[in-house]
Amino acid sequence: MAKIRMTTPLVEMDGDEMTRIIWKMIKDILITPYVDLKTEYYDLGLENRNATDDQVTVASAEATKKYGVAVKCATITPNAARMTEYNLKEMWKSPNGTIRAILDGTVFRSPITVKGITPYIPTWKKPITIARHAYGDVYKNTEMIVEAGSKAELLVTKADGTTETALIHDFKGNGIIQGMHNLDASISSFARACFNYALDLKQDIWFATKDTISKKYDHTFKDIFQEIFDSEYKEKFEQAGIEYFYTLIDDAVARVVRSEGGYIWACKNYDGDVMSDMIATAFGSLAMMTSVLVSPDGIYEYEAAHGTVQRHYYKHLKGEETSTNSVATLFAWTGALRKRGELDGIAELCDFADKLEKAAVKTIEDGIMTGDLYLLSTLENKQKVNTEQFLLAVNENLRASLV
Ligand code: NAP
Ligand code: MG
Repeated sequence: MAKIRMTTPLVEMDGDEMTRIIWKMIKDILITPYVDLKTEYYDLGLENRNATDDQVTVASAEATKKYGVAVKCATITPNAARMTEYNLKEMWKSPNGTIRAILDGTVFRSPITVKGITPYIPTWKKPITIARHAYGDVYKNTEMIVEAGSKAELLVTKADGTTETALIHDFKGNGIIQGMHNLDASISSFARACFNYALDLKQDIWFATKDTISKKYDHTFKDIFQEIFDSEYKEKFEQAGIEYFYTLIDDAVARVVRSEGGYIWACKNYDGDVMSDMIATAFGSLAMMTSVLVSPDGIYEYEAAHGTVQRHYYKHLKGEETSTNSVATLFAWTGALRKRGELDGIAELCDFADKLEKAAVKTIEDGIMTGDLYLLSTLENKQKVNTEQFLLAVNENLRASLV
């Protein structure tokens, strides 16, 4: 069989530890035998980030802007322990944070659902995708501890030097205050990224805030979403047969629990932080969550939601067998290949991505799975395999589906 040709390279961002090992296995076993893989390679492994003063991360994000689609391996975000382990010049920032800042994107996370791993919420039949706004609010706050007898006020000094103040509280006893902000531009980007992604997936999008209580802050989120929807997306949504739906956050939570799934749930920064962990856990496993960063101008960066699986890597280094789940990393590759195929009009590439995903799901549904899923699966004929055996089993199913 001739290999599938690509016209535009994918931006390939390699990473660290166990996911770096899996990365190579996925390419060798499941991709390069079938696809004449074109990538522009960036090594975001911590050693190379340190050697290049983290310029490689910036370069990979710039390349993503140029080509439009990237696939990223999990990477170490340095902390004190990593400083000594890797003899780092600096505590380099999180690559995901750097890339997100350059692409100005929104992160969408969806679970990969398989038979045998049942969500804790039995009504959920289809995946729920969380879209989390990744700028501002409590993550860029200013806080103070306030003593009894203090008066706290908000003070804004405008460009012309005039000021506006508002009383926060007259403190009779000790207390606390917090100031936070967001930007119209960032909220607008978030709204566009959400609407574009909903059109992409042909799924409804829900958005919720607490605008009845926060009449200026949260209400601005609601207004910006509505204005952008009405002026830019209403007709496209009608044509696609999908809906934009706004409700209060507490009503949204109740509806989500009662729903069947199959939609995108857009959340403010904090809500998204909390709710994405709830969704991931309720669907079964972090190792089955995919993640894609979408910029408002339609640039895509695909990755797994989990980290570098450090504990398994240390076992691997000691020569011990590992049973690490490669599914989310594999779906990062298939997501990127499919998007490249769509953008370049290569139907074969999209078809290959679909078949590879189906082969992975079939493998698990036939009872062959890594240790993490083995613990969760309710299948009777289940069998635990090692990291490589799982990919080889996927390859058997893939080969069968390609002939
Ligand atoms: P982690 O790599 O997600 O792993 C946490 C635990 O979850 C693992 O020890 C393992 O549990 C389980 N797990 C996660 N993914 C799995 C998989 N694919 N297969 C099987 N089990 C899996 O998080 P971490 O250990 O806290 O972080 C390790 C490094 O990853 C850190 O340096 C962190 O900075 C980085 N990180 C990167 C990203 C990213 O690049 N997007 C995201 C998060 C963390 P058991 O040990 O019980 O088997
Ligand atoms: Mg969290």
